[in-house]
Amino acid sequence: KLQASDSARQPYVELRHINKSFGDFQASNDVSFTVEKGSLVGLLGPSGSGKTTILRILAGLETADSGEIYINGKLVNNIPANKRGIGFVFQSYALFRYMTVFDNIAFGLRTKKVPKDEIEEKVNSLIDLVGLTGLNKRYPTQLSGGQRQRVAFARALATEPSLLLLDEPFAAIDAKVRKELRSWLKDLIQRVGITSIFVTHDQSEAIEVADQIIITNHGHVERSGSPIEIYSNPESSFVTKFIGQPTIIDNPGIFKGFSKIRETKSTAVLRPEFISVTKLNEPFRYQITSETGIVEKSFFRGGDFELKVRVNDQLLTVNRPITQERIVPGEEVRIFIRSLYLLDGDKAVTVL
Ligand code: ATP
Repeated sequence: KLQASDSARQPYVELRHINKSFGDFQASNDVSFTVEKGSLVGLLGPSGSGKTTILRILAGLETADSGEIYINGKLVNNIPANKRGIGFVFQSYALFRYMTVFDNIAFGLRTKKVPKDEIEEKVNSLIDLVGLTGLNKRYPTQLSGGQRQRVAFARALATEPSLLLLDEPFAAIDAKVRKELRSWLKDLIQRVGITSIFVTHDQSEAIEVADQIIITNHGHVERSGSPIEIYSNPESSFVTKFIGQPTIIDNPGIFKGFSKIRETKSTAVLRPEFISVTKLNEPFRYQITSETGIVEKSFFRGGDFELKVRVNDQLLTVNRPITQERIVPGEEVRIFIRSLYLLDGDKAVTVL
């Protein structure tokens, strides 16, 4: 399937069969993946699934027990962290508190003995690039969380790394600023054109920011693909139960509409967007079997309400747009299930 143009598009980062244990705990289990030059990759997985370990092995801060790490086609296993041409934004690698914004960003350049006037020019242009113009002389304690994080990005970019690694870069920032900073970082990374890999346990962050998502589970790579591929076709049971806002139903046969299908013994996974809810007196819009249920809870979310509806002893999550007539807790409603995933061993099958 190789085409002529593919030869120029060799992966920028490649991990091959990486294994890493801490004592008898295997933190990386045969990890292999590739990253295209210039792309922004999100490493996503539950806590303890080995995301940070992968990032640290790539950075050279941790040594793999076996396997190969290639950056730009070059085997880097035996190259120390500071010679790999990587920029870091790690939680544990905070700003220097006793240094100004300017000095924090200049730090790596001074270590490299870059001439003074060159540092001056470079740092000032980075300060502009990350939107901190005029704040050169501030100390970290005089900045907001979002501003501090921008300084960390500028500092990581100062030495012009070929690869940027970010460990939970938005974790310490409040929700509103986090959202702004995410899209700002995505734009910045695209503008600078630097290959970047970030760790997150927040699926909406990975979905909104990344070009490619790599999902980790128990130390191995469960799945890799674009956010849309992974969301709309989760394929494995693990990803189906991990992505979206799943309701997991161990006995789908309790629903009338599914009692006739033979797979009723397997587990079903429902997402809110697969379910519609109507008031009992609202006209039917779907030619599918419906169930009735009782609304237990209602959470206002701005554009819609998230309702928890009990149907046949199962609590389902369903969204109701604010533009439709209000449904309140205690009310009996009608539920339409338009689609679901059935889990068959490791595989998930969509049932329409
Ligand atoms: P989180 O989202 O919670 O940060 P993670 O997916 O990044 O988790 P890792 O930090 O890679 O997971 O850790 C994977 C496992 O390896 C964890 O169970 C952790 O306790 C273990 N681990 C990581 N580093 C070490 C170490 N230096 N010594 C012992 N165990 C370690």
